Amino acid sequence: MQELETDLLILGAGGAGLFAALHAHAANPTLGITIAVKGLLGKCGCTRMVQGGYNVALAAGDSVERHFMDTIEGGAWLPDQELAWRLVTGAVERVHELENELGCFFDRNPDGTLHQKAFAGQTFDRTVHKGDLTGIEIMNRLAEQVWARGIRRLEEHRALELVRARDGGRIAGCLLVDVRTGEFVLARARAVVLATGGGPTMYKYHTPSGDKSCDGLAMALRAGLPLRDLEMVQFHPTGLLAGPHTRMTGTVLEEGLRGSGGHLLNGGGERFMQAYDPRAERATRDIVSRAMFAEMRAGRTTPHGGLYISMAHLGPENVRREFKGMVERCADCGFDLAGGRVEVVPTAHYMMGGVEFGLDCRTELDGLFAAGEDTGGVHGANRLGGNGVANSTVFGGVAGDEVAEWLALHGELAEPDRATVDGAIAAALRPFEQPAGDLHPIREELHEVMWNDVGIVRDGPGLRRGLGLLEALHERLRVTGVSDATFRFNLTWHDWLNLDSLLQASRAIAYAALARKDSRGAHWRDDFPQRPDLGASAFTRIRFDGGQHSLEFVPVAFTRVRPGATLLTKAAA
Ligand SMILES: Cc1cc2nc3c(=O)[nH]c(=O)nc-3n(C[C@H](O)[C@H](O)[C@H](O)COP(=O)(O)OP(=O)(O)OC[C@H]3O[C@@H](n4cnc5c(N)ncnc54)[C@H](O)[C@@H]3O)c2cc1C
Repeated sequence: MQELETDLLILGAGGAGLFAALHAHAANPTLGITIAVKGLLGKCGCTRMVQGGYNVALAAGDSVERHFMDTIEGGAWLPDQELAWRLVTGAVERVHELENELGCFFDRNPDGTLHQKAFAGQTFDRTVHKGDLTGIEIMNRLAEQVWARGIRRLEEHRALELVRARDGGRIAGCLLVDVRTGEFVLARARAVVLATGGGPTMYKYHTPSGDKSCDGLAMALRAGLPLRDLEMVQFHPTGLLAGPHTRMTGTVLEEGLRGSGGHLLNGGGERFMQAYDPRAERATRDIVSRAMFAEMRAGRTTPHGGLYISMAHLGPENVRREFKGMVERCADCGFDLAGGRVEVVPTAHYMMGGVEFGLDCRTELDGLFAAGEDTGGVHGANRLGGNGVANSTVFGGVAGDEVAEWLALHGELAEPDRATVDGAIAAALRPFEQPAGDLHPIREELHEVMWNDVGIVRDGPGLRRGLGLLEALHERLRVTGVSDATFRFNLTWHDWLNLDSLLQASRAIAYAALARKDSRGAHWRDDFPQRPDLGASAFTRIRFDGGQHSLEFVPVAFTRVRPGATLLTKAAA
């Protein structure tokens, strides 16, 4: 095992990780900063995949109060209101920083102002974008800036375990494995930022990038940290459905399609959304996904078992111009988005839940900061489209500022707890000691269990069955080995490690979903369909300790506005 030392270790290189690096460097250019990332810096993670865009209240007629109210109501009154306020106010600053300091250039109106498009679930068109491939613009500029600053990069290095100090009181670093050589690396750090981006890839249909397997959440659970809102998994209504033979199935067709007036049709060619919500296709993602699931359950499906999105009534030329990337993606799979119909299915997209963190991005463990999709509390029960990349860039920057300040006052390198390191290495090597088996059926079964029992519509018996199946699957994984004994670029080994993280996170999701006996936002219980008392809203806090989950409900503090009230003036409302 190699050992290295750094002042600040950042795990993950999406919007959150790269912003953390840039801000920490700006605050103190002498800091030794190391980014460890599972893939290639700039090329992996979901920030690069952002299509639709970035929510920010800039236009006349819009306001941060309105953005805040949309976020709180969209999140079914479960968000932490201070975090949500920081999101909406920080987004204004961050978008200017992206354009004026980092070199992004977003689409504009003829008068030179930023063009902002419609996204579902919002009372104002506030989504800034670069065509329909916004994330590429953001990630390319962020990566260039990081390269230019000489920040140390450990690419294709996978974080395996957070390592506490020997006395347990603070972070001492992280155990990594170099994917290329298979060598373990103990990165000792004075502070760590966790930014590995969640990612619900345990569902049959899912959108996130293949490098995301909830590693950060699994590491946080194993480190005994509290995670909140894990039952809140967002399904995006329009995942491409192109059959089981292609990995394109499940990838997302952006929200702007519905935002701009696209229609959803059932297998019989009928529009159905008006029957479920007065906003029809522009209702929030949770409502639309559930309505689609109901149509599918009723058997009104397309040849592949999904539904259709139809844009042709908006004019094929307009659609081609406005949604070039989406039209090309659909054409690759044999669909004509501009003039015909495309088969779609709700697809697991985002985890609202994650590690509990504060306004300064600190976690319960001293010296460990967290930002982006690994964290919980900003979105509550449902995330608005366009608030995801805002979250990762706003809080990534905050984490960088705060960790630099913290490092100025604290933090000698702590002596790592060697027992944790040894235990984590033994756990990672486990598949080499078991009889070789096939991981494929384990993954397939995981996908099915999560889709059927812990998916869009849930109930007690299904969740209990799901939890049992997940535990059994996890046990099966533990006794399944990999046949190829090499450590170098052994993707089967990494697949095993991915499944281990996914199973750990899935069990926590199912556990939290079973505990929450109400229906709100992304969490729908058929056995508890009644609308909850919003004034008594409480979030789930889950821990994994001594091999067991424990869970408590924590009341939401309505620090800015109570259910039924608004921050908007009468005229603005
Ligand atoms: C297809 C798609 C479209 C989207 N469109 C939008 C949109 O239009 N608007 C919007 O607001 N949001 C959108 N989102 C959501 C948005 O992408 C995310 O909310 C946000 O980018 C997450 O940023 P992040 O930095 O937390 O994570 P990511 O950008 O996903 O970065 C995570 C990083 O962690 C690394 N990593 C993972 N595991 C490990 C490990 N074990 N060790 C080391 N590194 C690790 C990954 O390689 C990656 O570099 C979209 C998501 C998808 C999938």
